[in-house]
Amino acid sequence: MSEEQIIYGVCKYCGQARAVERLEVLSAAKNFDLSDEEAADYVASETCSCEQAKAQATHKMKLQAAGAWAENVFENSPEKLQAVLCAIKAVSEHHFGRITIKSGKYLYAFDTDAHNDIRVKTKYTDTQEETF
Ligand SMILES: [Zn+2]
Repeated sequence: MSEEQIIYGVCKYCGQARAVERLEVLSAAKNFDLSDEEAADYVASETCSCEQAKAQATHKMKLQAAGAWAENVFENSPEKLQAVLCAIKAVSEHHFGRITIKSGKYLYAFDTDAHNDIRVKTKYTDTQEETF
């Protein structure tokens, strides 16, 4: 790739060929171990203004926000964090309608609402039991 060369990538959602930033292509190629051509298509898909690309970008933002929540809540437990991140991804992609995870006295329910926002409900149950 020369400095002045205009790089084109194809949006995987709408098939439109778009000029993409060289630096972004190089960065994507490096970060995701892609060929230059694959990286150009990746950047074109990420930055395209078609409805599907925009919906995908919104979905990605929601996933990142939910992921940040999970990292905060389960920062001391990498195993739990992995399971919760999988649950969040699975419901956000509608593989499951709802996933609930019980952890100690907490019950976490993961699903999506009517606007396709990722929803996490946390229920804390403290039951006192005495046996004599
Ligand atoms: Zn597109």
